[in-house]
Amino acid sequence: PNPTSEPKSDECVKVVVRIRPLSRKELQDGHKAIAEAKEDRGEIVVRNPRADAREPPKSFFFDAVFGDRSAQERVYEVCGAPLVESVLQGYNGTIFAYGQTGAGKTHTMEGYPDPPELRGIIPKSFEHIFDKIALADNVQYLVRASYLEIYNEEIRDLLSKDPKDKLELKENVDSGVYVKDLTTFVVKSAMEIDHVMQAGKKNRSVGSTMMNLTSSRSHSIFCIVVECSQSDDRGDHIRVGKLNLVDLAGSERQSKTGATGDRLKEANKINLSLSALGNVISALVDGRSLHIPYRDSKLTRLLQDSLGGNTKTVMCANAGPAEYNYDETVSTLRYANRAK
Ligand code: ADP
Ligand code: MG
Repeated sequence: PNPTSEPKSDECVKVVVRIRPLSRKELQDGHKAIAEAKEDRGEIVVRNPRADAREPPKSFFFDAVFGDRSAQERVYEVCGAPLVESVLQGYNGTIFAYGQTGAGKTHTMEGYPDPPELRGIIPKSFEHIFDKIALADNVQYLVRASYLEIYNEEIRDLLSKDPKDKLELKENVDSGVYVKDLTTFVVKSAMEIDHVMQAGKKNRSVGSTMMNLTSSRSHSIFCIVVECSQSDDRGDHIRVGKLNLVDLAGSERQSKTGATGDRLKEANKINLSLSALGNVISALVDGRSLHIPYRDSKLTRLLQDSLGGNTKTVMCANAGPAEYNYDETVSTLRYANRAK
């Protein structure tokens, strides 16, 4: 047997960083880019705008990096396509978009429907899945979708008629951890699953902070389960793979958002669940940890069967390039670096 055929756990976790371009407004206001992706080297270089010009910039290395002109297509090839392929073969996978509000998480995960070059990882994975299914002979596929958000450590079903209801996390021997009463839809085409996502998006919680009026304070998880059944002379085989597409809540520290009262409580819970996720991923990457702290947040408990083991995980950290984002950008790079 080939000793390298068993993937090591660190090969199953990929950490990538994407730096968005300066926006038109940032350019108009005279902001300068201080973070840059060197794509061929997998390197992010950041210069401290407050430091002496002679101070050397900081440098971080990742499995892949994407610069301000990176195409959605390229990001999909690296972050999405390998997971979709393995989900179709019956393995689980998870893609996270991490970063401060405005850094490009939703651009990376969803993008814009038109033109097609602007579509993000989620719609591209819909197309990929149904294109593959259309080509398959002698195999039956069943695709189901669900969509939820975790807001203040409470789970809400975005596809429910009553999305304000809080759902419970349950655990049993057969199915592991699951969300009780979560709505799931069977979908038969990329268009159908896209409609499901659009319907769910209307139910997302948005709160206003001083940083961004529509900044999302919740983690959203779009989940696709692909069941594949095949009959041959040895009998029937069923394989089930699950893909979780996660747009995390903004990672900005609450001091900067000027949050008070309920907003501050929310912010603390967000920071706790993001650090719980960072702890789980770094324990998985470490490979020697006997204890993976899945139970420390709803997010990691819910995704337990799709993180680690023979699953694939991609952490895509997004950052803004401008000098006023320096502190948050460095904190995002440190988070991603720890997850590596
Ligand atoms: P987040 O979801 O992290 O809060 P968004 O994805 O909404 O951030 O991005 C903020 C703004 O920047 C949006 O107008 C988005 O279209 C733009 N943007 C983000 N990333 C890119 C990119 N890679 N290329 C072009 N525009 C981007
Ligand atoms: Mg967003």
